[in-house]
Amino acid sequence: MSPGAQFVKAEAKPAEHRVLATLNADGSRRWLDPRTSKGRFHTARGVTAWVLIALYAILPFITINGAPAIQIDLANRKFHLFGLTLLSTDTVLMVVLALAIGFLIFLVTALFGRVWCGWACPQTVYMEFVYRPIEKLFRDKQGRTTGWRFAAKYALYFLVSLHLSNVFLSYFVGTEAVRRWTLGSPFDHPAAFMLVMVVTGLMLFDFLFFREQTCFVACPYGRIQAALLDRHSLIVTYDQRRGEPRRPLRTNPGDISLKQAPLGDCVNCLKCVTTCPTGIDIREGLQMECIGCAQCIDACDAVMTKLSKPVGLIRYSSQAMIAGEAKSLFRARTLIYPVLFVAAVTVFVTLLLTRSPLDVDLLPRQGAPFYAVGTGEIANQMRLSVANRSEAARTYTVTVKGVGGARVLMDAPDFSLAPTESRIVGFAISLPREALGARGQADVLVSVTDDRGASRTVRYHMLGPVHRSNAGETPKGATP
Ligand code: SF4
Ligand code: SF4
Repeated sequence: MSPGAQFVKAEAKPAEHRVLATLNADGSRRWLDPRTSKGRFHTARGVTAWVLIALYAILPFITINGAPAIQIDLANRKFHLFGLTLLSTDTVLMVVLALAIGFLIFLVTALFGRVWCGWACPQTVYMEFVYRPIEKLFRDKQGRTTGWRFAAKYALYFLVSLHLSNVFLSYFVGTEAVRRWTLGSPFDHPAAFMLVMVVTGLMLFDFLFFREQTCFVACPYGRIQAALLDRHSLIVTYDQRRGEPRRPLRTNPGDISLKQAPLGDCVNCLKCVTTCPTGIDIREGLQMECIGCAQCIDACDAVMTKLSKPVGLIRYSSQAMIAGEAKSLFRARTLIYPVLFVAAVTVFVTLLLTRSPLDVDLLPRQGAPFYAVGTGEIANQMRLSVANRSEAARTYTVTVKGVGGARVLMDAPDFSLAPTESRIVGFAISLPREALGARGQADVLVSVTDDRGASRTVRYHMLGPVHRSNAGETPKGATP
């Protein structure tokens, strides 16, 4: 920039077209304060929401076969799902399970649209049935929240968020750990205390500030809706043929032109707009922001009832049905998704039933590659990762074969693992010096066998000193 040049503050240019329902024309955030519309869908959603909230709080306390009903146990790398325990080595099972869930979500979305978003998503459930009611609870008659109301509202927000974050964390660390953290001093568990506070802070940020933006910009499911829906998917729609032409806003009741032109059923009261938690006008057609919550249906049904007109000007329907086409349940996607779902479930169950109750993995060597034992024997240290995948405690023994005179050198003849426990087991294998041959190398087969006969075998490459006549050659991996 040349010397003396000055910055000129540019004027914000208003958007020519609507960009987002929650943006003002100058780009600033348009804060929403949707009116609650009571009605049959609001009642049904309320019942569903409180059943889900109760389930969310209770599930971490329920145990099946001694394990939590649902827990992603990150510390022990286990995933508990209603009596089934998947270990970190069950990668294929987890991928197939994720695929099955994905195909099910695709199918449900193709049939019922955003029913998950509007009725069951935690973001909607807690926003509309916990946080929004708290916000309204502390308003005075003029709609303000000041003084003690302000303090009480934020205190309650904090307590609810703290509770939610504790429940959320118990899905990862278990209820016992959360109980210890809660009852103990923060100085005894500083990391845990910080974790709880960070999650609580994130909850507050989401439900007090970010709100509907989570659905718009953060949720991947919200972003892929357009690809999952088709003309026959169930969505919340406005019946244009019945509603239009709508009564213009601020009309003069004595306007002769209105009396001459036949009007549709929409009286332009905007109740469907002011109740929408995402701030859209459903009369403009299907929009990405619509979460299918049916608040606009309840709002419009109340208006239609007051006007003694049939309800359903806004209703659950499909683009095809609104256009007068017949309902169609069987489309390419509603046939392909179930087939893929059943195939994934079949593969999952087959893998589950045929998986070994025992997992054995050879771990890399550590320390010196070999050492001499007593007279005439060479030993190699060995480490195995052994996982008990069964739902019962098991006792294991380690044996070696493949080379005559091979022995396992272990402190105890066997070891036990609790259900789904994994452990790294260290021991040594010894061979007669001459079994290693002139090159100082030999392969042995190491087997781990449980008390019910299940066994896994790994091949292990033993190393030892090179014979004198071959001095100068160094066994692969050995220190010269
Ligand atoms: S609530 Fe019904 S009548 Fe009122 S503006 Fe919306 S669609 Fe029209
Ligand atoms: S348009 Fe209706 S169904 Fe869609 S988000 Fe708004 S109120 Fe809910």
